[in-house]
Amino acid sequence: MNTRYDALALFSGGLDSILACKVIQDQGLKVLGIHFITPFFGNPEKIEDWQEIYGVDILPVDISSKYIKMMLDVPAHGMGKLVNPCVDCKIMMLRHAHSLMDEFGAKFIISGEVVGQRPMSQRQEALNSIRNDAEVRDVLLRPLCAKSQLITPCEESGLVDREKLPHISGRGRKEQLAMAKAYGFKVIPTPAGGCKLTEYENAARFLPLLRNLKEPDVNFFKLTTVGRQYWAGNKLLAIGRNQDDNENIEKLFNDGDYVFEVKDFPGPLSLGRALNPEGWTEREILDAAAMTASFSPKARNSGGEVVVNVIGPDGNKDVSVLPSRETETVFAGPNLEGLKEWKIERENFRLKNIELKKIEGDNLALGKND
Ligand code: SF4
Repeated sequence: MNTRYDALALFSGGLDSILACKVIQDQGLKVLGIHFITPFFGNPEKIEDWQEIYGVDILPVDISSKYIKMMLDVPAHGMGKLVNPCVDCKIMMLRHAHSLMDEFGAKFIISGEVVGQRPMSQRQEALNSIRNDAEVRDVLLRPLCAKSQLITPCEESGLVDREKLPHISGRGRKEQLAMAKAYGFKVIPTPAGGCKLTEYENAARFLPLLRNLKEPDVNFFKLTTVGRQYWAGNKLLAIGRNQDDNENIEKLFNDGDYVFEVKDFPGPLSLGRALNPEGWTEREILDAAAMTASFSPKARNSGGEVVVNVIGPDGNKDVSVLPSRETETVFAGPNLEGLKEWKIERENFRLKNIELKKIEGDNLALGKND
């Protein structure tokens, strides 16, 4: 049987999620942090350190596939500044945590949200809608701002002493920083856990997949986080920047992909993948090989053609190319061109869905009244 806990916590590794755990532990209650992982957020490699530093047990939970599906299906509450569906994200995490409660004997869920702290997901209205849509009204406690929220069953029953909880609200960080100091944290983590969906460079990496994929493809989203990225139409070339990237490229290799590696000189591995199953032309393969070789200083400085090994759907072959980034096939870095129009299109679709659901609901109600 699993170890029993009083509470499950959404644990991003950001300061607020840590403090939420600490104030509940201070009341003598056992907390298990749930650390969600997707290609966009999550740092499973830090869990061991976090457990030691903050004294909280942490369980990594990978929700990549259903998270990507939610993104492709148009998040019901829309997106923030870039491609971050914060409200739907929180709803999904809380629902998932809720589904784990029985397994760990937990009586309530906590999150480090603070009313007014963030413009999209932490307005009071958004907090209410997250709580209601995640169906955690009876089990969710937001310890850092509990005193400004409706009293919850775990406070009413006396399991949690509401009076001992902090009373934080708004965008300031003074109280959280003072608490971190009082707990003796030597390094103060950022407020949240870090999310690539809110970062310009990373949002640009994800955008082509968000716009074009029909089915969730976790491997492809992971690939967009690796190395330097270049797109030529619907073809992606990911070029390793270091040993880690090269290892990831090897791990992510799929049927239909191409891997390029310069022979005789040290250089990166690169991986070519198309958005649709159409094959790469010979020209595109040679140009991807030339691009890859251009990131090997020694190959570049050799002054002539170099040999690049290409492994692809048709087998393994060597090609000779001049290292170059100015190839006939134009490879360009990711950008956010078209983001605004794409978001407007999706927003219209979302609003239309809401309208349709409302009409369906009204019709049902009318039917019942007949
Ligand atoms: S910033 Fe990222 S992880 Fe945080 S709520 Fe928004 S989408 Fe989710």
